[in-house]
Amino acid sequence: MLGIRQKLSLGFGGLLLIVVIIGSQSITLLTSLGHSIDVILRENYRSVIASQEMKEALERMDGGALFTLLGDTDRGRELIAANEPAFEIALKVELDNITVPGEQEAAGRVETLFARYRTALKTVQDPALSLDARRGAYFADLFPLFQEIKTAADDILRMNQQNMIEANTRARTIAAAAKQRMVLLLLCGAFVALLFVLFIGRWILRPIHRLIRSMEEIRRGNLDLVVQAGSRDEIGSLSEAFNEMASSLREFRRDNRTRMARIQRSTQQVFKSLPDAVAVVDPGGSVEVSTKAAAEIFGLRPEVRVQDLGFGWMSGLFDEALRSGSIVEARGSQAVVQRFVRSEEHFFRPEAVPILGGEKNPSGVILVFKDVTRQMQQDELKRGVISTVSHQLRTPLTSLRMAVYLLLEEKAGPLTPKQTELLAAAREDSDRLHSTLSSLLDISRIESGKMQMNIRPEAPGEIVLEQVETFRSAAKDRGVTLTMEVPDELPEVLADPAQIGHVIANLISNALKHTSPGGEVSVSAASDGDMVSFTVADTGRGIPAPYLDKVFEQFFQVPGREAGSGEGLGLAIAREIVEAHGGTIGVTSEEGKGSTFTFRLRRAGQTAREGSPA
Ligand code: ADP
Repeated sequence: MLGIRQKLSLGFGGLLLIVVIIGSQSITLLTSLGHSIDVILRENYRSVIASQEMKEALERMDGGALFTLLGDTDRGRELIAANEPAFEIALKVELDNITVPGEQEAAGRVETLFARYRTALKTVQDPALSLDARRGAYFADLFPLFQEIKTAADDILRMNQQNMIEANTRARTIAAAAKQRMVLLLLCGAFVALLFVLFIGRWILRPIHRLIRSMEEIRRGNLDLVVQAGSRDEIGSLSEAFNEMASSLREFRRDNRTRMARIQRSTQQVFKSLPDAVAVVDPGGSVEVSTKAAAEIFGLRPEVRVQDLGFGWMSGLFDEALRSGSIVEARGSQAVVQRFVRSEEHFFRPEAVPILGGEKNPSGVILVFKDVTRQMQQDELKRGVISTVSHQLRTPLTSLRMAVYLLLEEKAGPLTPKQTELLAAAREDSDRLHSTLSSLLDISRIESGKMQMNIRPEAPGEIVLEQVETFRSAAKDRGVTLTMEVPDELPEVLADPAQIGHVIANLISNALKHTSPGGEVSVSAASDGDMVSFTVADTGRGIPAPYLDKVFEQFFQVPGREAGSGEGLGLAIAREIVEAHGGTIGVTSEEGKGSTFTFRLRRAGQTAREGSPA
């Protein structure tokens, strides 16, 4: 089997061979043509000239003889002397240039006759003889010899002319034959070239095209394709390598598919056995896969559409997560959903998590329903205990404080300085206990909804100003600059001014407490969409990052700080109040640089947002 190199060599080699044959043939033909022409020009033409010269010289010599007979002996002798050597030279040329058959004899005859002519000429020129005798010799010998020599020379001339004509005809024949042969060779060459072009297509290009087509197929994903190797040349090797590659790819795909299927099965298995209610929903809203709990509690079975389940809040969560591309938690009254599972009351906190791939839009949403029943029960229990204990402690604590106050006022008799000191410490502690109990009772009242809220449209500037004024002198005493920035054009907010005032007071009090003299506390308010945000920022010690989301928890105090008058309830109460208003509260802080507490309240005149308490 031939390789591409051999095939190309064969094709080009054939063409080269034809070029060489045509070339060598042309050279041979031109040489033989040249030779024929050379024969004509060189050999025959020379004999023709020699014959004519002999004839001319002879005629002049004859003229010389006649002059002699007519009495002009000198002129006659002169002519003969001039032409005799010319004849001999021409004769010599002719004798050396014999080319035609019979020419040798004719030339020999001329030579013999001329020898006799010279003898006869001498007789005619002999001055010793009489004119009559010389005239008789002329007519008897010289003139017949003159005639014969002329005839012989003519013969030579004719022979050579004849030969010239024949040579010419031969040259023409050779030229015609050469032309024919050339045409034939050219046709052969063209044929071989044509074959070469055709074979290039069949031998080289077709397998390459086949390979290109196969690659196209593979690109489209048809890995089962096998390319026919067909030949054992380079293309054949390429096809084999290609088949091996396709087979490796097939194996790779098979392995991958098996692995993917295994992973998919195990993921589904694990997913289904999750205790929480979780469902994966495609962008159209159809459930793709769900846990047992999601199917039983919320009806989220595969193929079911979220929109068809009749839970407006669920569709809302799904739509928002799909649109925003970020995690969405349920808010307000829907923050916790109550459902009965096997006749038991359960609480779930819904959350929608978008599935983000490389694409711009989420490729689905995961609905997660965290079972917060236990947490709610514990909170309830804790609230109950705190509320009960606070109530139970309040009455005895009141009489205790009263007793301590009465004793300190010496209503029950004079006190020794030591007794006064001890009673003063007891008063301080009982005051702090009283404040803690009040805070706890406040919290449980707000949480249980028993706290009477007087929510109404209120100007933010007024609420803020009242609190800032209250702290003016405290700030001055501490050497801290207290500023306020509330634009007049701010819209009114929905707030219980006493409660929100309490929140602002708590934030300002904390800020002053944690800011060293020379620092600054600024209170401001600004419009924030359909909300108004209130900010209390300070340049104080700040809150370490790990505690940022803990400061709003009950009884939390940043560790490592000297125990102040607080009991870790101020921010917890603030959050309860703000959330009871349907607002949010948060903090950002950098240790050593300061903290910024911000809470948001709804603007008056806004319709209640979905999720806010009625
Ligand atoms: P307390 O009444 O004990 O201050 P809070 O609930 O008001 O309790 O605050 C919780 C914790 O947050 C406090 O222990 C305090 O260290 C920290 N904190 C509150 N406000 C600030 C602030 N402006 N700068 C630094 N730390 C603060």
